[in-house]
This record gives sequence, structure tokens and C-alpha cells, in this order.
Amino acid sequence: MVDQAPRINGERLLRDLHDLRKFGARGTGVVRRSLTAVDVESRHWLVERMKDAGLDASIDGIGNVFGLSKKSGKALLVGSHTDTQPEGGWLDGTLGVMYGLEIARAFAENDSTQEFAVDVASWIDEEGTFSLGSLGSEYFCGLLADDALESAENEAGQSLLDALKEAGFDKTPRARLDSQRYAGYIEGHIEQGPYLEDEGKSIGVVTSIAGMRNLAFTFEGEQNHAGTAPMDRRKDACRKLIELAGRINHVLSDHVVPTTVWTIGQIELIPGSPNIVPGAAKMTLQIRDGEESRVEKLTSLVVNLAADLDDPEGVRIAVDPKADRMIGTVMDDGLRAHIERAAEHHVPGCWRLMPSAAGHDAQALATQIPSAMLFIPSIGGISHAFEEDTKEKDIVLGCQVLATAAASILRERR
Ligand SMILES: [Zn+2]
Repeated sequence: MVDQAPRINGERLLRDLHDLRKFGARGTGVVRRSLTAVDVESRHWLVERMKDAGLDASIDGIGNVFGLSKKSGKALLVGSHTDTQPEGGWLDGTLGVMYGLEIARAFAENDSTQEFAVDVASWIDEEGTFSLGSLGSEYFCGLLADDALESAENEAGQSLLDALKEAGFDKTPRARLDSQRYAGYIEGHIEQGPYLEDEGKSIGVVTSIAGMRNLAFTFEGEQNHAGTAPMDRRKDACRKLIELAGRINHVLSDHVVPTTVWTIGQIELIPGSPNIVPGAAKMTLQIRDGEESRVEKLTSLVVNLAADLDDPEGVRIAVDPKADRMIGTVMDDGLRAHIERAAEHHVPGCWRLMPSAAGHDAQALATQIPSAMLFIPSIGGISHAFEEDTKEKDIVLGCQVLATAAASILRERR
């Protein structure tokens, strides 16, 4: 049963989303990379909105923004991220943070939920500017040690510690999760894919978040003249790269399910000239799959293939498992059931269960406390692009469903 659902204020939610969109606006899109001046400015703006909502708001020593409830009892943590890709949309991440803020406000205004504690979080650098995965949520959950922060830098070569100092966040303690405080974590997000729109559904209830591995291969052969070096004496790094890429595509095809994806996204030949047999080469491979055990298996298959093709007399192959990996994560059944019931209450038959192919902060939180996610449709399935958008009625509906679920979670678990 779903009862006494507090009504969210859709106009207020949309107004805040549009206000935040102005920070880093580029046409219809947004460029708000973590810890850039405009991102820092938007974090201070968010602190003010959280204070207006009656929350105890602050930015911690890593840049996470928290709005903590002053109510007693177990709290529900609601959040996502407000940083963007180099070319980002206005809803990716931002949506879930604003859902948290609106839910906190709606609860405070409703007699039946006034005493419920809702904490709101905006996790820093979910988009991985500093190549530490989902930095803010992973740090908060204890998945990243302080040491790991020291060597991190962005593409411009600015170190994370310098960026934090410049932002003025370095003097504040870095918050870590107190799991006793929480009944769980919920996150609303745009789908970033086409499935909800294609099926005419307005809500997705996430079952699992795909695991991901990034592998980097280097090939060491011998650089030589493209005209004079006989074919049988060459140590051609490119030929070896192509051979491995072909084997990967062939072997993985035998071990995957339809939702598994893998991508060879970067190839570099060194020195890269039509007149030179490449002496070295580099290649990346990314594998994503909803089941963590399959990601592990596919990764070890590939590592074994590389070992098989490694030739001490010819081209050597080295594999480096890069730091940015995501552990495949199953969402909490109990919290999920609340979101399912709320969806069925507001839009009977017009929602579906679905896995997430993209990574989210909820993956980090799920390692420590019960966590669940809700998706709303993305127009044309487009995200990580200026064109990213969602119908206003879907934005408002998603918040209402999450609010109803939040109330029922806290009724049960506070
Ligand atoms: Zn996101």
C-alpha cells in the first residue's frame, strides 16, 4: 500500500534545475567540470538552496556538498552529482541532486513526513576528471584512501590537491560515511539510453549497475624502414595489435550475453608514419557487463589471450589494468520494492525494471548501505551531449515517484 504521499512542487523543482543550468551553460548544454571556478561557484549556490530548505549544509574537504537533516531517527540519503563531462547535458546527475532537495522540502511541508530525516548529497567528480572513478562517493564510502588523492591530476595537469586548495576546500575535513545514520541511499537519474522512450514507459527501476574494466595494452617491437625491412624479419607492433584485437572480438563473442559490450576505443601507432614499420603501439579495451562474475571472466580471457600472443623473440605485449574500474552492483531488493510500488501507484503499468549500463554514484554507496535507483526517459536516448533533455512532465513525475518511495522507506525503516 502507498499512502499519504507528500506532493512535491514541480514548478519549484524545475526552477532550481534551470537555475543550476546557468552555471556553465553552453547553448542547451552545460560545461561544469569538477573543481573549475564555475563548478565551485555552483556548489556554493547549492549550499544556499540547502540552507533555504532547512538543512545543515556544507562543502567537505573533497568538494562533496551535503545538506544534512536536523531531524532524529535514521535518515535517507538522496543524491547524485552536479559535475559534467567536457560537453555535458543539464540533467545528468543534477537531476538526482535536485530530486533530493525537493524531497527534503516537500517532506518538511507535509504533516505526515515532517519528522522524517532526508540528507541530500552532491558527490564531486562522478565524471572522473581526476581519473579516480567516482571520486566523491567512493571517498565518502571508504573505497579510496587519502594516499590515492595525492597523485591524482586532471587532463590539464592540475593536481587534485591544488584544485581543492584553489577552491578553498582544503581546510575542511573530508567526510566519511557513518553507516549507522542511514536507512539507505536512493538516486534519481536520467536513463541516458533509449529503452524507456522506445517502450513508452516513464519510470525505470534499476536492478543492477554494470561492472566495467579498462585494460591498456602496450606492444613493443622494432622500428624499421617500411621499404627495406623484409616482411619475415619485422617486429611490427601494429600487426600484433591487429592480431590481438581480432582474437579478442572472436573469443569474447563466444562468452557474452546480449547486454555485454566491449570497445576498443583508442589505438596509437608509434611513431605513426606511412614510411615506418611501427616499433610500438598502444590499445585500450573496455568491457561492461551487468554481472560482475562475467566481467571478471571476460577480463581474464583477454589477459590470457595477450599472454598467448606475447612473443619474447618478436613483439612483446604488456597489459595494464587501469585504475578506473567499476564493480558490477546489484541494487537492494528492499529499497527497490518501495520504488516499484511507488511507480505502480503513480503510473500503473507504465514503468519497467532495467539494468543500468552506465556507472553511477549508487555503485559506491551500495557497497556500504542499501541503495537503489530510479530512471526517467532521455529524449532520443542522448546524454553526455549538449542535446541531452527530458520532458518536463517526466522530470516532475520521477521526483514524485521517488518522494513517495522515500516516504514509504522511512515509514518502514526510520
Ligand atoms: Zn550521471
